[in-house]
Amino acid sequence: RTGIYNSLFELNEHQKIPTNPDLDVASYVLSQFPHALAESRVALIDAATNCRITYAQLHRSIRSLAYGLYHALGIRKGDVVFLLAPNSLLYPTMCLAILSIGAILTPANPVNTTLEIAKQVADSGAKIAISAPEELHKLIPTKVPTMLTTKALDGDLLSVEELIECCDPIDFPQERPTQSDTAAVLYSSGTTGTSKGVILTHANFISVVTLLNWSVRASSSQDDVFLCFIPMFHIYGLAFFGLGLFCSGITTVVMQRFDFQTMLDAIKVHQVNNIPAVPPVILTLVKHASNMKCDLSSLRRVGSGAAPLSKEVTDGFREKFPWVELRQGYGLTESSGAANFFATDEEAKAHSGSCGSLIPNFSAKIVNIETGSPLPPNIEGELWLRGPTIMKGYLRNEEATTATLDPEGWLMTGDLSYFDEDGYLYIVDRIKELIKHNGYQVAPAELEALLLSHPEIVDAAVIPLEDEEAGQVPMAYVVRASGSELTENQVIRFIADQVAPYKKVRRVGFISTIPKSAAGKILRKQLISQTQQQLISS
Ligand code: AMP
Repeated sequence: RTGIYNSLFELNEHQKIPTNPDLDVASYVLSQFPHALAESRVALIDAATNCRITYAQLHRSIRSLAYGLYHALGIRKGDVVFLLAPNSLLYPTMCLAILSIGAILTPANPVNTTLEIAKQVADSGAKIAISAPEELHKLIPTKVPTMLTTKALDGDLLSVEELIECCDPIDFPQERPTQSDTAAVLYSSGTTGTSKGVILTHANFISVVTLLNWSVRASSSQDDVFLCFIPMFHIYGLAFFGLGLFCSGITTVVMQRFDFQTMLDAIKVHQVNNIPAVPPVILTLVKHASNMKCDLSSLRRVGSGAAPLSKEVTDGFREKFPWVELRQGYGLTESSGAANFFATDEEAKAHSGSCGSLIPNFSAKIVNIETGSPLPPNIEGELWLRGPTIMKGYLRNEEATTATLDPEGWLMTGDLSYFDEDGYLYIVDRIKELIKHNGYQVAPAELEALLLSHPEIVDAAVIPLEDEEAGQVPMAYVVRASGSELTENQVIRFIADQVAPYKKVRRVGFISTIPKSAAGKILRKQLISQTQQQLISS
């Protein structure tokens, strides 16, 4: 009656989110390690080298690195550490060591360009950077002091590996972070504009780790083997594999990045049974797995998140892999990746197209976009979320923070959705400007600003174009300066030279004016529906 939807689940006494204000997420995660079995239980396996780390080794290396960062490098509580690396066995160690000394983690996609990296380094106020050797050249122009993840063959920069080797795994420093301290700054464009720093606290991470393990323990055991190719620099990978799942005592096979054949081989070799994935990977499995020699008999569960999973792909997957559970989840960087999930496969099958119900301690409203009033089941509106994993706000951006978080703590997601009568959420569309390419965020405003910097472009708008494989691709509408003969390829190349590959503009339309509201806002929906109609009639 109040228009508020609450979680259908409650945590019992033993599952509750810890409320001790002095707790930090690294101490919490380490306290949850399977200590009795730590010397023998494998925490991480490198899919490429088969190198293994036990829980005991992981525990030691986190404490050694924390000691080294604090005593040898002088990193202190509140210092921002920029991390530029693909997935590796070292990644979780680096995250937990940085968090354990109260430093603030700001991870980035290693395919980002020098310019994109410089922006994040400056905006986050990074004091030091840690970089994979192959990405080091991109950090040099920032002049931020940098150490490597692993030792490079040439050069004399200190590496994380060496620091772990030479420091003793003694106790964490005295100056401990607390629940209310900032733990990480991740970048998201939110509902409008360009990338902003999302402030996530130790309390946010402690909550997401607790909730994640509650959901995983309900359907997995310590003997489970997870496969990780989702990137640990994104909240999805960071919450699952950078921090969270160690509390469940499972083993994770780590791939540096996604590759279809490597994934199939890893599943067979390591008898993987759980894969948190994204829709393009699930589509690829549906399309190609049966034509390739592969043994997926060990698989029990595949999760899908970060972008919508269509009903056709879901049905196709269930038909081809009837022994595998497929469960969709939903979350945002601004909610530490958490919000909705399916507790059982039966529920998922019975609510095809849904991304589950609210996780414990979460509430939601569906809000009428025009009037702001809360809506009953089966009526579409904007999804608002409230829960313990919701961000503190955007870094040094009061305006964006107040436009996204209301005074009662509701996060306005910018997603058009509805709940059915049973409390299952359906994401229908995006009201916000965000484009998602293979699950990665592309902010139209960022591409529009670049387009406008071209001397022959007087106005521009970027919209999402639906794409079967990648979900969406960015398309640009461009108003050329009079007399300009700028071509589609020239525009595509102009952008491609300045952005990470996943942000590339893939199509260009030339137009005489960009449709705008009286207030000067680009009427994206109008451009999107015009484009759809043109595609249908062509
Ligand atoms: P990010 O902050 O990169 O995780 O992006 C969050 C956004 O991804 C959400 O606001 C949605 O627009 C989209 N998203 C995430 N999960 C889903 C899902 N299961 N279905 C539809 N959209 C999703």
